[in-house]
Amino acid sequence: MIVKNLVVGCGLAGAVIAERIATQLNQPVLIIDKRPHIAGNIYDYEDTKFGINVHRYGPHVFHTNNQIVWDYLSQFTEWHYFMYRVKAVIDGNEINIPFNLDSLYKVFPKCLADKLAMNLLDKFGFNKKISILELNKTNDNDLKFLANFIYEKVFLGYTIKQWGVKPEDLDESVSSRVPIYISRDNRYFQDKYQAIPLKGYTTMVENIIDHPLIDVQLNTDFFDIKDSIKYERLFFTGPIDEFFNYEYGELPYRSLDIKFVEYDKEYFQSGPQINYPENYDYTRSVEYKYYLEQKSHNTIVSFEYPRTFERGINERYYPVPNMKNQTLYDKYYKKLIDLNNVYFLGRLADYKYYNMDQVIERALTLFNSKILTLIGEK
Ligand code: FAD
Ligand code: UDP
Repeated sequence: MIVKNLVVGCGLAGAVIAERIATQLNQPVLIIDKRPHIAGNIYDYEDTKFGINVHRYGPHVFHTNNQIVWDYLSQFTEWHYFMYRVKAVIDGNEINIPFNLDSLYKVFPKCLADKLAMNLLDKFGFNKKISILELNKTNDNDLKFLANFIYEKVFLGYTIKQWGVKPEDLDESVSSRVPIYISRDNRYFQDKYQAIPLKGYTTMVENIIDHPLIDVQLNTDFFDIKDSIKYERLFFTGPIDEFFNYEYGELPYRSLDIKFVEYDKEYFQSGPQINYPENYDYTRSVEYKYYLEQKSHNTIVSFEYPRTFERGINERYYPVPNMKNQTLYDKYYKKLIDLNNVYFLGRLADYKYYNMDQVIERALTLFNSKILTLIGEK
């Protein structure tokens, strides 16, 4: 078979690059995916029993400050505007996450909370965000006490469950995704745009790739067909180490065992997401009916049990950001220079802990900077 543009992977990265090629270059695209469905890790579906929209590969809330990405995606979906709020159970109490001034008053007696709040405000200022690793570096005795408390109660247990290592053994960018807010901002994200596609993520991806020049072939693994297919350009959104046949060794990932449980009651928990840094073997429970404010007498909740990724056993969910893995990734990336018609993009191919908006930005930038200029149409 001969195709002009082959896209491997029908997740967000694959869908966006295919859309650009079809609509901007007027060229045909074949997208293949080894899974039986489109949308990659943002695949969701309407539960047939209760009509609740469920996220098959874990909870997804879209958030961005990037106007271009927001405008781009808004062509393909209407939105349910939704400010995400997350609680964590600490010493048996539900507190706000990110830890903020409200959380302080939930876990300490008022006199101690007053003192710590004053210290935080003096040292860092109101409305500032700091990472736990930054707060840990403080010399002030009271703030050191607070840093130890938040580190032990919020970050340590959760991070060991999620990653199998302590927060300081990962790139600081991981724990600083959930900073400490010196304010009463109770939102999980602070981005300008926060929303969930009104008809779900799968429908949104369906709309992105709905073009006469785009064909999709599911249940098709690139490595099974690569010798029988010829392409002018290949856009690869699968794992970079697999593409190069693990020549330098495997890039590690974390996986999840997600258990979905139906309950015969209207609500299971107080809000969409509850984190459990201290208790249980799962990291968080997510109750999906909160996402689109769906009504049902029943409810569906997922519990995430982190696992080491093992080939052929489970799925790649999270790249593990640290120096060692970055060095290995860089070694693979250098091999791309020899391949002038192959482009890598997405969470697996770039081995980056991207959020959805960063994946879209990556695909749009790749298209604008490399493909358009290459073709001389810019
Ligand atoms: P993927 O969605 O992984 O798509 C890659 C596709 O390639 C897959 O469908 C795969 O089957 C296919 N593929 C791989 N190898 C082959 C092959 N050899 N042949 C054929 N097909 C192949 N982001 C947010 O912004 N907000 C959130 O709330 C959020 N929550 C998340 C929660 C969890 C549990 C996880 C794991 C991620 C979350 N993300 C969130 C991140 C988001 O899922 C990713 O940024 C995004 O889905 C990545 O898209 P992608 O296209 O790069 O990768
Ligand atoms: N984290 C934590 N406790 C929490 C929430 C997050 O220790 O209650 C840490 C943990 O290391 C986690 C990281 O912060 O993996 C990023 O959290 P985020 O919610 O962004 O993870 P994701 O939604 O990507 O799984």
